[in-house]
Amino acid sequence: MDIHEYQAKEILHRFGVPIPRGALAYSPEQAAYRSREIGGDKWVVKAQVHSGGRGEAGGVKVCDSDTEIRDFSGQLFGRKLVTRQTGERGKLVGRVYVEEALAIAQELYLGLVLDRASERIMVVASAQGGMEIEELSEEHPDAILRMTIDPATGFLEYQARELAFGLGLDSSQVAQAAKVFRACYRAFRDLDATMVEINPLIVTQQGDLVALDAKMSFDDNALFRRNEIAELRDMSQEDPLESHAADRGLSYVSLDGNIGCMINGAGLAMATMDMIKLMGGAPANFLDIGGGASPERVLTAFRTVLTDPKVEAILVNIFAGINRCDWIAEGVVQAFEKAEIKVPVIVRLSGTNVEEGRRILEESQLPVATADTLAEAAEKAVAAVSRSQAA
Ligand code: GDP
Ligand code: MN
Repeated sequence: MDIHEYQAKEILHRFGVPIPRGALAYSPEQAAYRSREIGGDKWVVKAQVHSGGRGEAGGVKVCDSDTEIRDFSGQLFGRKLVTRQTGERGKLVGRVYVEEALAIAQELYLGLVLDRASERIMVVASAQGGMEIEELSEEHPDAILRMTIDPATGFLEYQARELAFGLGLDSSQVAQAAKVFRACYRAFRDLDATMVEINPLIVTQQGDLVALDAKMSFDDNALFRRNEIAELRDMSQEDPLESHAADRGLSYVSLDGNIGCMINGAGLAMATMDMIKLMGGAPANFLDIGGGASPERVLTAFRTVLTDPKVEAILVNIFAGINRCDWIAEGVVQAFEKAEIKVPVIVRLSGTNVEEGRRILEESQLPVATADTLAEAAEKAVAAVSRSQAA
């Protein structure tokens, strides 16, 4: 789960990371009022969306009067900000953050991620902040420092100092930097984060280190024990179909084509989408029903896939190990009874209780096309879409 910049800053601040003075606003009037509360004569107005790259997308502006703040945030509210990370649909701006503007002497990069190879938290830092890390690793791979942290000792002071010296920081800034690094590590570890990124972490003209931007993501599987984090969820930033499915224990991924896919397991999903492509079609989405899916779960899955208006045919491909083909078949029958299905449905079942599953489908006399192999199923789904498009 992702959170907003202002929320990440508040959290990191609690752990000891210095942040600019700032306040949140839900309207242009409130944004202007916030600047008077903050004081000073220069402010930065920042669209709060779950994405980076807001600056270059027009979502961040330095303003020097409250009229300018009101006008700029007036343009942001209600707009979908399209950044290089959001995709063309963009993300809705419902909140803006107003901060005191700081004079920047240097921009650094700091990121903490989970390194799967070493099974440890990895700290990534660079003296060349401001640009995206992907860009940085292509253009200046040598300018990136990496350090993995042993969970038994945590991020030790000397390691943090070593990293700070590696960035070429002044000796007067090393202690500040070490404090920021270790604070980020503790926040990451204590809150079950999967990512912390401060880009840029700046040195101000007064020589202080301040987090000018902040991003955090959290492990969805740990949210049950992180109520204070779970409360920060902003559904307006999520794909509504994906969050609808996730809330029901299904994983759903939205794509661009017109064949809806119901599958068990991510590997089979990949294979099925490849096969659809090979047959000349394109998947609209895929929904992973997981293992041991009950008929009710299959019904919910159908309802979810059908909510996507792009879907012109549904391909159900189940390779049942823990699942049972008879339950899947019953779920398909229930879906025809309870969900309004107006598109062709193609079902391929294989594995546990497959004969029983096929019998249920046959006896139901529903207009379901069946297939024995994945290739046959994909071919039928693609053909069904072409037929309905021709008609
Ligand atoms: P992002 O584009 O979504 O990563 O948003 P950022 O929070 O990183 O802001 C984009 C850019 O705006 C930063 O890289 C800075 O160059 C600029 N910016 C943000 N806050 C300030 C500030 O207080 N002072 C100055 N001078 N520039 C700022
Ligand atoms: Mn940034």
